[in-house]
Amino acid sequence: MEKEYDLIIVGSGLYGCVTAYLAHQAGWRCLVIEKRAFTGGNIRDEIREGINVHSYGPHVFHTRHQEVWDFASRFTPFNHFRYCPLARYGGKMYNLPFNMHTFYQLYGTQTPEEAALRLRQEQGLYPHPRNLEEKAVSMVGRTMYETLIKGYTEKQWGRKATELPPFIIERLPLRFTFDNNYFNDPYQGVPMAGYSPWVDKMLEGTEVRLNTDFLADKDYWMKKAGHVLYTGAIDAFFDYRLGALEYRSLTFEHVLFEQPNVQGIAVINETDSRIPYTRSIEHKHFAFGTQPVSIVTHEFPQTWDKDREPFYPVNDEKNNTLYRQYHALAQRECPHITFGGRLGLYRYFNMDETIKNALEQWEVLKTKLLPA
Ligand code: UDP
Repeated sequence: MEKEYDLIIVGSGLYGCVTAYLAHQAGWRCLVIEKRAFTGGNIRDEIREGINVHSYGPHVFHTRHQEVWDFASRFTPFNHFRYCPLARYGGKMYNLPFNMHTFYQLYGTQTPEEAALRLRQEQGLYPHPRNLEEKAVSMVGRTMYETLIKGYTEKQWGRKATELPPFIIERLPLRFTFDNNYFNDPYQGVPMAGYSPWVDKMLEGTEVRLNTDFLADKDYWMKKAGHVLYTGAIDAFFDYRLGALEYRSLTFEHVLFEQPNVQGIAVINETDSRIPYTRSIEHKHFAFGTQPVSIVTHEFPQTWDKDREPFYPVNDEKNNTLYRQYHALAQRECPHITFGGRLGLYRYFNMDETIKNALEQWEVLKTKLLPA
């Protein structure tokens, strides 16, 4: 019997939206099901007081992949924003990422040679770093670790840096030039129209059902589609049959100020453990806004439970092992379902990696949609 849809996409985050666009272009009958009342997942933004507010934390698009940049800029132009956040600790401000400005501020070193010499003394202590603390000290020295990493990391992940895997800190650039650009990528910016209009453009022409919980009616939806792309949490899909994976969650406090400029920069990382939030975000600076008022958001990391939105997978050994078991289960039991995105694959993806992954996965997916 012919199915109503060739493809049902569960979740309208970036991964789902890219795939919906490709499926629509290819002429497939496609439906997007979204549990929340809006599209875009955690990249959603909304206009408040004329300011584009990143509702679920700051997002800056950056990539080194030409094809991803070309794809992304097809839907709206990007502005020339460069992410150069500051860190605040003990009432003082420091430059990020870790670069010659930061070495100067913390160690007084003025040349790359002096900075490298200063670090070598500490690097030798941990030739084989076993955890995030050892890795961070060997990268940037103990003072910088204590000032800029320890407090932030322990708030962010809710556990001691000595109990976290080293790879988390490897995401951050470390350079011996006076360069505050957080990312090494040649392409960077924020969509001029905003993130929500960006993904909504990808969804043009595709049927979308909001406020619809796929898992509450799984069998019903499965009967309607030849294939399903599921971008929700993989453990929830299997009703936590093998146990629950761990995630970190976030909450946000938005404050309206009757003044045009509060902190003078888009993001300040609050690296001091005495401050309960990790970041202070003044949204208008992502878009060079000139409104008479401003909105600042404080970002609070939270322990995740089933009533909260999962934001970050906790990719330690224990959780990765459980994920692999779910992945094997999916391969055994679900030939007509593809799992994708940060929650479906239980992996931290930047936005550009999400797009790259969706573009590559589409090449596989479209062969599954071909009539037998
Ligand atoms: N981090 C830190 N201090 C900072 C910023 C980041 O210690 O000021 C650490 C922290 O452990 C974080 C990791 O570096 O989880 C990765 O940071 P990134 O900015 O990539 O965070 P994300 O994009 O995940 O928010």
